[in-house]
Amino acid sequence: MLVLGIETSCDETAVGVVEDRFTLRSNVIASQVELHAPYGGVVPEVAARAHLEALLPTIDRALVEAGCGLSDVDAVAVTSGPGLIGALLVGVSAAKGLALAHDKPLIGVNHLRAHVEVAQLEHGELEPPLAALVVSGGHTSIVALGEDGRFRQLGATIDDAAGEAFDKIARFLGLGYPGGPEIDRLARQGDPHAIAFPRAMRADPGYDVSLSGLKTAVVRYLRRLEAAGQEPDLADVAASFQEAIVDVQVDKTLRAAADQGLERVVLAGGVAANSRLRARFAEACGQAGLGLLVPSVPLCTDNGAMVAASGANLLAAGHLAPLELGVDPNLPLAG
Ligand code: ATP
Ligand code: MG
Ligand code: FE
Repeated sequence: MLVLGIETSCDETAVGVVEDRFTLRSNVIASQVELHAPYGGVVPEVAARAHLEALLPTIDRALVEAGCGLSDVDAVAVTSGPGLIGALLVGVSAAKGLALAHDKPLIGVNHLRAHVEVAQLEHGELEPPLAALVVSGGHTSIVALGEDGRFRQLGATIDDAAGEAFDKIARFLGLGYPGGPEIDRLARQGDPHAIAFPRAMRADPGYDVSLSGLKTAVVRYLRRLEAAGQEPDLADVAASFQEAIVDVQVDKTLRAAADQGLERVVLAGGVAANSRLRARFAEACGQAGLGLLVPSVPLCTDNGAMVAASGANLLAAGHLAPLELGVDPNLPLAG
């Protein structure tokens, strides 16, 4: 069974092909990073227009790389939410057109579920009960996948998403866009314990997190040095900021897993590409005797293979979408 997956929810036009739920056949990404970089963030109208231009050539390339044609594909899967409404509409409209023209089933995929389910391409079937930490540009949540195959939200950020915090602080430090990878790089030359930034809600018994206070603390720290006429060590700032985010995510996720009897942890979303987050989870899960499933870096950030993988699961379960499939910019992960 071959599933074509189309992703246009944000700023990557991405298409992938997955065979029999677990085998990656192709994964092609046309990134818009350079288009949005001058604005320091994604401009929705610019994104939608760029998806329109890039989508058909990206689909062609993904099919060529997979060594198949549209007629060989068993279903067309597409991200229908959450994301930017105009950007989502481009992908969903194209998927409907392909499904109709080639008489293929259409499948609507939840982008956040897809971030989690992409792990099956490298780790095989995701065996419940497990905890998934979804840390991306727009979301930060801890969910549990139960024996019934359903996701249940355990906790979430009450303000900024982790990726958003990385991007905002990077911009403040004068680093490039997107900021996550820049901070990751700079932090390698810094001391993660140099500056004691706050870990909000760490002692709170629930699994929610808050990251906006951390952001403010970094800004305040830099302003204080500036007022005193001192030069900050930006590598130390990056490393200490990153460590605060990672500490909170590791703490909350491992506690959720322990409390809820979850046996393994999946890291998902763009921030799961962070080298420190990956290293700290490897260490903590090792100590706690929890399994850890981490996608390779290109499968953490937005891609088409994740949509194809999630779509393949839905196809296997018989969950097809009608041709009236709509988009939902606020589609939740669980529910
Ligand atoms: P969402 O999935 O919530 O809809 P999105 O699709 O825009 O949002 P992703 O592509 O999943 O987000 O993730 C992008 C985010 O990941 C950006 O905020 C980016 O800075 C961050 N990111 C990417 N690589 C790293 C890294 N190495 N360290 C930290 N953050 C990173
Ligand atoms: Mg992106
Ligand atoms: Fe994403």
